[in-house]
Amino acid sequence: MVPEKSIARRLLSSLVQWVDSDYSIESPDFIRAQPDGVNLVRCIPFAVLHLGCLGVIWTGGGWFAAGAAVTLYFTRMFAVTGIYHRYFSHKSYSTSRFGQFLLALFGATCVQRGALWWAYHHRHHHQHSDEPEDAHSPHIHGFWWSHIGWITSRRNFPTDYSKIRDLARYPELVFLNRFDILVPVLFAAALFGSGHLLEHAAPSLQTNGMQLLVWGFFISTTALFHGTSCINSLAHLMGSRRFNTEDDSRNSFVLSLITLGEGWHNNHHRYMSATRQGFYWWEIDITYYLLRALSWTGFIYDLKEVPASIYREAELRNHHDSVARFSVSSIQDEINTLKRVMPTAAAIAIATVNSPALAGQIKQIEDPPTLQRTSELLVPVQFPASLPRSDT
Ligand SMILES: [Zn+2]
Ligand SMILES: [Zn+2]
Repeated sequence: MVPEKSIARRLLSSLVQWVDSDYSIESPDFIRAQPDGVNLVRCIPFAVLHLGCLGVIWTGGGWFAAGAAVTLYFTRMFAVTGIYHRYFSHKSYSTSRFGQFLLALFGATCVQRGALWWAYHHRHHHQHSDEPEDAHSPHIHGFWWSHIGWITSRRNFPTDYSKIRDLARYPELVFLNRFDILVPVLFAAALFGSGHLLEHAAPSLQTNGMQLLVWGFFISTTALFHGTSCINSLAHLMGSRRFNTEDDSRNSFVLSLITLGEGWHNNHHRYMSATRQGFYWWEIDITYYLLRALSWTGFIYDLKEVPASIYREAELRNHHDSVARFSVSSIQDEINTLKRVMPTAAAIAIATVNSPALAGQIKQIEDPPTLQRTSELLVPVQFPASLPRSDT
């Protein structure tokens, strides 16, 4: 049985962590080693974020408040994807130290904790994708845990600075990460203040402090959280797979629209260092377009491209898939038709596809799963023992 004193200490510790997220009575290693379990007290601010949306019952809404919510959703989605993900987690481009601080500041308005906590967990996800160690794999832990549950688990609250040394050497970043409630509170206060000002300065907008707080902060931030979470949950469940990665990441056009490009998750898992995640022009990736535009100002630079070898691999996959599809729908039909009308030619065709020389060529192709499918299609076609007479 856990002593009462220990329960009281843990309760107090969770309360202090609302303000100082690095405060702990146990080491991050010890906490990480514990089994998953919801820390109810620590989750209260997160619950308040969701409950705050109900404020709309009292404040009502209007086109200005709703427009602010949508604008702040997409602006901050760019911060999550372009900054927390593509900069802090993957360093897919460079900026100055001051630029990096500004990026962390902007990212903190997303209310998804500090940049270092985010990057630490995300790098861990890439190292253990869809394995038992992965904190938010829908295949291991189920949809709801991967979407929202994992963030409430006590073992996922600490930031392990020893795993993100490249970021932890900047005290200003550690400060923002440690006091990760600071920027969200200031952001919420700024929205309330702006709404209050507009109520008097521009009454035609028909808004006020509380309304802008509810729409711009609570509703927009809650939607932003769930939009981002779709990448942890749905992007490993729905969509197509271009690359045969060891995880179950997928590419989804719909998810790419609501997350400004993050839906090309299979591309990203195949080559995570690239700034772009939509590898082709038809794979819409708004975050990449905005980062590219930002690079023209010089504020960010050295955007990392997708290497030619990855494009070649993608083309090979496309080629293999089209060969497999073509084999299913066409080759078998054609051989059957040929067997009916010209058995001798059919026999030659069958002998050709089953010949050791061709099999040797096929073996040279690098991709085993597609090769398997192609071979399976060809093997069942048996060389006939005796050929029927041709009608022609
Ligand atoms: Zn993933
Ligand atoms: Zn990533």
